[in-house]
Amino acid sequence: MEDCLFCRIARKEIPAKIVYEDEEILAFKDINPVAPVHLLFIPKKHISTFFDLEPGDELVIGRLHRAVVQVAREMGLEEQGFRLVANCQEGGGQLIFHLHYHLIAGRPLQWPPG
Ligand code: AMP
Ligand code: ZN
Repeated sequence: MEDCLFCRIARKEIPAKIVYEDEEILAFKDINPVAPVHLLFIPKKHISTFFDLEPGDELVIGRLHRAVVQVAREMGLEEQGFRLVANCQEGGGQLIFHLHYHLIAGRPLQWPPG
């Protein structure tokens, strides 16, 4: 998508602190972190929300999760753990309409989230 912020980051038109990349997935530091570790994982393919998933997207969603686990392990988070958050639609707190997961860690995390 031409104007989508995360598509532009995936195309390297806008700089980001990239922590993981493969053919289909990109992970980078959130510009406004809410915890010592706050990363965003996106499919390079533009998918606006979970409601826009199409047949065949199972693979990229699975790979997103594998990338999360790989990065979390590399960052030594296996013992302390992390939170994986996906906001969906405005009512779910979604601001950027390119599907993404927040990986949040490094401080005590309350439940339920606000
Ligand atoms: P959401 O509310 O789930 O759509 O989250 C969007 C996230 O994108 C927020 O946590 C923002 O801080 C983050 N964000 C916005 N612009 C950028 C950017 N240029 N680089 C990195 N993260 C960004
Ligand atoms: Zn996009």
